[in-house]
Amino acid sequence: MPGTLIIITAPSGAGKTTLVRGLLERDSQIQLSVSYTTREPRAGEAHGCDYHFVDIAEFRELRDRGEFLEWAEVHGNYYATSKVWLKEQIAAGRDILLEIDWQGAQQVRKAFPDAVGVFVLPPSLEELEARLRGRGTDSDDVIARRLLGARGEMRHIGEFDYVILNNELRCAVDDLVAVVRASRLRYPNQHLRHLHYFDFLEQD
Ligand code: 5GP
Repeated sequence: MPGTLIIITAPSGAGKTTLVRGLLERDSQIQLSVSYTTREPRAGEAHGCDYHFVDIAEFRELRDRGEFLEWAEVHGNYYATSKVWLKEQIAAGRDILLEIDWQGAQQVRKAFPDAVGVFVLPPSLEELEARLRGRGTDSDDVIARRLLGARGEMRHIGEFDYVILNNELRCAVDDLVAVVRASRLRYPNQHLRHLHYFDFLEQD
């Protein structure tokens, strides 16, 4: 595939969204895929920008029509990645970032075996809980569910190519920028990107 597909997965509270924002500021070539979700928008979130917010009936209809590359239930809500949009972008040589959970990552790897998986870890479980509470947007019940989910998510860390420890945001962004740059330079990507050059090199 000419474009590079990066999957970024983290337990909620690991700081993934801030990390991704840092990457997008530093790397103008990578674009974020906007997922579908049945979750209610949080304060400041915009439809079509952070997520496509849909109700359950609409989600099921889109899913049953085969519009999704992957979908999963996370913390009691449904999330999905648009299939057509993603395939078009990758075929056109664009670099795309998917912020999805481990279940989605497994499904995407089946469709795009060259996708690069990045797992983001919080500095510790104690720090994770503190961050979830500090966000102040979720109830105790939701936080408890997310902590349990976080442990489950972390059990899948071995399925990913890279692990970034989000101890210090600036270093973690540097790490993510480095992973994206290195991923672009893999032989199959470079070969497709510079076909004429490689054809010339392969002549006797
Ligand atoms: P949040 O509700 O905090 O934005 O996201 C909750 C979880 O859903 C996160 O782990 C996030 O990575 C995951 N998620 C967001 N979009 C998608 C998606 O399109 N597919 C899957 N499988 N998970 C997603």
